[in-house]
Amino acid sequence: MTQAEESFSLYLHIPFCRHRCSYCDFNTYTTVGELKEVYARALAAEIRQVAGEVRRPAHTVFFGGGTPSLMSPEALACILDAVRESFDLAGDAEVTMEANPGTVDEAYLAAVRALGVNRLSFGVQSVVTAELALLEREHDFAAVVAAVAAARQAGFVNVNLDLIYGVPGQTLRSWEESLQAVLSLAPQHLSLYCLTIEPGTPMARWLRNGRIAPPDPDLAADQYELACGLLAEYGFVHYEISNWALPGYQCAHNLTYWRTRPYLGLGAGAHGFAGGYRYVVVKQPRVYIRRMQQGAGGEFPLSAAVAEAHQVSRREAMSDVVITQLRLLEEGLDLVAFAERFGVSLDDAFDGAVTRLMGWGLVQADNGRLRLTEKGRFLSNQVFYWFV
Ligand code: SF4
Repeated sequence: MTQAEESFSLYLHIPFCRHRCSYCDFNTYTTVGELKEVYARALAAEIRQVAGEVRRPAHTVFFGGGTPSLMSPEALACILDAVRESFDLAGDAEVTMEANPGTVDEAYLAAVRALGVNRLSFGVQSVVTAELALLEREHDFAAVVAAVAAARQAGFVNVNLDLIYGVPGQTLRSWEESLQAVLSLAPQHLSLYCLTIEPGTPMARWLRNGRIAPPDPDLAADQYELACGLLAEYGFVHYEISNWALPGYQCAHNLTYWRTRPYLGLGAGAHGFAGGYRYVVVKQPRVYIRRMQQGAGGEFPLSAAVAEAHQVSRREAMSDVVITQLRLLEEGLDLVAFAERFGVSLDDAFDGAVTRLMGWGLVQADNGRLRLTEKGRFLSNQVFYWFV
């Protein structure tokens, strides 16, 4: 397949939120909301600039944030028009929008649906009032119920809900309460993330000054195990370390990342991997807009707003393949494809790491594929450490 024929995933970053949550270190801003329309035009310009004259195939689009659901339907239409004009978007393309409960109603979601968005991802995080307050989320569970009902009314049949475990003060019982509550909303997909307390966030400060207790990794492991058992009972397939889907509802966009396939990152602070480059776009929305208003792009896929880019070395490519594909619990990593591509077996490339990890029961090989074991799922970061 030539570069022009390869199908791409497009990640489009929307860096606006109404309020910053206590654990958030994403590239988002709460004081520049007036830039939303001009930002949409800059993003459309970046899409056209990166595509250039070549109409490449694309099979997924993902509006991530920030809070994409703060964008007006007109602003989203401006962006999606640029996507359709510049890329050959598959008729059955998955088009996802992240949304916060409390920012959407049925009329808004119907308008978004009419634009071609066909998958919604709601940041629920917890249903427990005290946990939502600690996370400084603006919604309550009633807003989640209303948002999911509005999504169904607007015709969405593919809905993801995000939850967070490992939250200070959260118990096994309150975690189960959140899981049962979101399951009662009949989502097609669930993403469960373990809270990481990032430096520079209010939560990191609370940890330092003793307002919250340090994370308990044993409790987090118990919470993860509980989720694995409960979601299996409800028919969810655990296809990636942090992701579960009903059959047929795996996230095609995220599968692009985990299969180490190319994706274009567009918008302030977005990361991309395409054309042999890994790159990151400037973070500040004002700087991003200025760059897109003034600058010319570089070679594909580098736009005028790219802040840093490097060509992926052979060693980095080998690491990337292991660290992304081992996340896929069912598919795992194709050992034959790895050896064919790099001219060396995975075990030799990483000085016997596979043999060592198999000995510790963290990975297993079966039919030419390497996968994490159940024990390896809990300790995946320690597995990945050997391939960095
Ligand atoms: S809604 Fe998401 S992106 Fe926005 S502040 Fe909260 S965690 Fe960060």
